[in-house]
Amino acid sequence: MIEQFIKKGYTIVDIEDVADIYVINTCTVTNMADRKSRQMLRKVKEKNNNAIIVACGCYAQVAREELEKISEIDIILGINEKNHIVDFVEKYMKEQQKEVVITDVMRQKEFLDFGTTAYTDKTRAVVKIQDGCDRFCSYCIIPYARGRVRSRKIESIVEEVKAIAEEGIKEIVITGIHIASYGKDFTDGTNLICLLEAINQVKGIERIRLGSLEPTLITDEFVQRLIKLEKICDHFHLSLQSGCDETLQRMNRKYTTKEFKEVVTRLRNAYPKVALTTDIIVGFPGETEEEFAKTYEYLKEIQFYKMHIFKYSPRKGTKAAIMQKQIDGKIKEERSKKLIALSEQNEKMYNAQYIGKEVEVLFEEREGKYMKGHTTNYMCVKKETKEDLTGKIEKVKITKVEDLTLIS
Ligand code: SF4
Repeated sequence: MIEQFIKKGYTIVDIEDVADIYVINTCTVTNMADRKSRQMLRKVKEKNNNAIIVACGCYAQVAREELEKISEIDIILGINEKNHIVDFVEKYMKEQQKEVVITDVMRQKEFLDFGTTAYTDKTRAVVKIQDGCDRFCSYCIIPYARGRVRSRKIESIVEEVKAIAEEGIKEIVITGIHIASYGKDFTDGTNLICLLEAINQVKGIERIRLGSLEPTLITDEFVQRLIKLEKICDHFHLSLQSGCDETLQRMNRKYTTKEFKEVVTRLRNAYPKVALTTDIIVGFPGETEEEFAKTYEYLKEIQFYKMHIFKYSPRKGTKAAIMQKQIDGKIKEERSKKLIALSEQNEKMYNAQYIGKEVEVLFEEREGKYMKGHTTNYMCVKKETKEDLTGKIEKVKITKVEDLTLIS
């Protein structure tokens, strides 16, 4: 959206500044996200009473009526319409008529492809390969906000990756709502590994990083083909959510802890330095002390490099929100703290093994006397130098670790 406005000659300012148009790209992943979106929409109007206020994104997509009640909003757009945001704003400028346009994303069968975009970050570019999700985890609203799986054509993705390479950008991040489902809607058998094989051939790109993956994707065959692609980063984010089978079942996740462990072993055998990261939800409805203890022990055994811990937060319209035995906030807080401590402990152990070793870093930005970047396995590294290394890949020797950052 920023690029669309810039192309038409608008100036982008900080959300805290006085502006003529405010765009709030809403999130609806939890009830809290909805509330924050509503608060923000009201707050920006106070900065300039004459400003045009646009609400778009996932919350607008699923809760049109709730947003229509907020008088401060002038334009409400769904997830597809934000791709023509400037047209809607300019129409409003002419007609001064409140506008609500939300297409039914649940009926949409094809990926809406807007081709190659402009890249503001010169070291890493995000490439979207699909939209939607068919998994319907019991806590998640996303399938309703984003619709069914729609994959972007392989040719279009490769074309975008080539354009990124031409800009001199070395790393791409493959994203989507559920990238493991890539190709599910095609009839010719094209899937994620076929796509990665095609992207791996694009000259100029040196690193391909995968966004969150569902563990069921990572079969022996998948790993055997993946390991041949030298540009794939040895960092995988596998959403586990819980280390207890009973909890996983209530979450409607499609794997067991045993299957997940097999995936971890498969990846660790294939990539010796692999960094595995994950997401965990604590305090899911019905999570007893015993269930949480199972999760804790399981996580201790797996030893992820990093874990993102989320306290379960009910989302209206999902099955989990109306489940019995919702967990008290204090218990969620305690469980979250325990897992955060475990995560930090793991991260320290993982980082410590690199002291005295050489690593390859893609440098991204300056931070005081340091240049900062990441390794293929996504460790954050800082090197003291006056040279501008932005966008360059260099080998550096790690001398120490400070605040979970490796220093060269
Ligand atoms: S797989 Fe991810 S996006 Fe899909 S329903 Fe589950 S949590 Fe939501």
